[in-house]
Amino acid sequence: ETPVPGNFLRHVIENDLAQGTYQSRHWGGSPGDGAHHAAGAPDPARIRTRFPPEPNGYLHIGHAKSIWLNFSLAREYGGVCHLRFDDTNPEKEDQEYVDSIREAIRWLGYDHHLADDPARPGIRQPHEYFASDYFDFMHRAAVYLIEAGLAYVDEQTPDEMRINRGDFNTPGKNSPWRERSPAQNLARFAEMRAGQHPDGSMVLRAKIDMASPNINMRDPAIYRIRHAAHHNTGDKWCIYPMYTFAHPIEDALEQITHSICTLEFEDQRPFYDWLLARLTEGGLLKAPPPRQYEFARLNVSHVITSKRKLRQLVEEGHVSGWDDPRMPTLAGLRRRGYTPESLKLFAERSGVTKSGGWTDYAALDAALRETLDPVAPRAMAVLEPLRLVIENWEEVFGSAAHQQACQAPVHPHLPALGQRSFTLGKEIWIERSDFEETPPKGFFRLFPGNKVRLKYGYVIECTGAEKDATGQITCVRARLLPGTQSGTPGADSVKVKGVITWVNTADALPAQVRLYDRLFTEEQPDAGGRDFLTALNPQSLRVARAWVEPTLAKAQAEDRYQFERHGFFVADRREHTVSGRNLVFNRITGLRDSWGK
Ligand code: ATP
Ligand code: MG
Ligand code: MG
Repeated sequence: ETPVPGNFLRHVIENDLAQGTYQSRHWGGSPGDGAHHAAGAPDPARIRTRFPPEPNGYLHIGHAKSIWLNFSLAREYGGVCHLRFDDTNPEKEDQEYVDSIREAIRWLGYDHHLADDPARPGIRQPHEYFASDYFDFMHRAAVYLIEAGLAYVDEQTPDEMRINRGDFNTPGKNSPWRERSPAQNLARFAEMRAGQHPDGSMVLRAKIDMASPNINMRDPAIYRIRHAAHHNTGDKWCIYPMYTFAHPIEDALEQITHSICTLEFEDQRPFYDWLLARLTEGGLLKAPPPRQYEFARLNVSHVITSKRKLRQLVEEGHVSGWDDPRMPTLAGLRRRGYTPESLKLFAERSGVTKSGGWTDYAALDAALRETLDPVAPRAMAVLEPLRLVIENWEEVFGSAAHQQACQAPVHPHLPALGQRSFTLGKEIWIERSDFEETPPKGFFRLFPGNKVRLKYGYVIECTGAEKDATGQITCVRARLLPGTQSGTPGADSVKVKGVITWVNTADALPAQVRLYDRLFTEEQPDAGGRDFLTALNPQSLRVARAWVEPTLAKAQAEDRYQFERHGFFVADRREHTVSGRNLVFNRITGLRDSWGK
């Protein structure tokens, strides 16, 4: 695996390692047990990163970048990366999402990071954490802040709170509840916790500075009332921590060293630091606290990366599910046939920077081709079949039923992969677009009087075609030139300009082939407040009844091939079955970038 290329995060990490910033940390114990982790051996040379998805949807291509970044930095510097389910929100979270997130990370090849820390027994899975396991500690931290005069219960209405927060030009106004005593606040907070107040009636706020130029520092809410059951803690709580309060604590309890997030959180960093400094002073956490670093989120052209909008596509039936091969979810990209290698290469090339931008989707296809072309077995497939009859077959081979054996390399540059075997017969399937009654200029394939090579077969000369009543071509006729079989001394005796792919009607297998176009016609489907659904491409899926060469009879689900001339294909992981002889292939991408052409 290629190391993470030079980026500002590496400099930060290398500097921390050189300075021994985290040497005083003691590893061991389990997170959530509060301030005083059981003493373990000092662990000077390790960093800890984390990937903290909220289990409220499937992971998408943007998450792949964050996964790649966090897991590969940890690996490169001999550290570990935590998978943390950020499940502090009682609603919207679901076991299905937890499972899909685990599966996606395993698929990307980072599962070993989930199993290499013997110092942490008793956790559901090594390096897998649930933020909701820390609710007790978070509550204790909130109580501490109240006792220290650093938090208060605010009973303003949400509207009053919003107005009094001010804006960029106007400093905020102190709440009338701001000067209550710690004892009063503790009592009120206890009532909140005991379920004595309805949702939205009051919140706990950090007491910082209502005049701060950073609006996030104007007494941010840290706990709210939510009478809702939580998938992990059930009915134990009716107050839940806000993300901005919970996240730094999660990082600190897990002894994360470098908390890497996207740029939207830059303005939250002062609160992150404020909170951890207060809790460390109060003896609830050990120094030094983790630090937050931001990088620009990945935006990909023609792609939506909002979980809410992706959910809408699924729920409204615009796609067949979260793993529809047109979806930018990792489940969808996997089913489409993209490889973990291609996604990592793509993530790496998109760069780790401080300024945002858009990455062209074509870069993902390029990464796929580059990584798959050197290894993908080849096969012939005819996607838009037209029958071709070789008129002189009996003359050449003695019988209409004769099948001539043909060979082709499994991979042109990997002789060790061996040969493919199939046959040529009197009737074959060719691509409809390989015949023209009246050839346009520069057309070198089949037209009456022209010769082409059947790839891995013989040279044939077109003699004409048959049509039905509507004028549609139903069959092409040709004569075979004896002695011109590929791989024999006579192969070069006749020079032709065109080579076409084909399969024999006698041994070809029927297959369903799905050909995809972009899901959205616009480069930025949700830009400028546009309803992204209006940018849906009605032609994003075309299903073809194809014929494929017989060697594909052994294709297993998720096997990838290059269909000659047609691009890269994968056997669909849900619908393709070998035993049922139901061959279903998804086109991952063409052989070259042809979007918009
Ligand atoms: P959404 O807003 O669509 O729900 P999210 O960003 O809130 O997505 P999380 O599950 O909270 O989703 O994200 C987990 C991690 O993935 C976060 O650390 C976040 O920074 C990172 N991440 C999410 N989207 C991107 C992206 N487009 N590029 C890079 N990192 C991303
Ligand atoms: Mg989120
Ligand atoms: Mg978000």
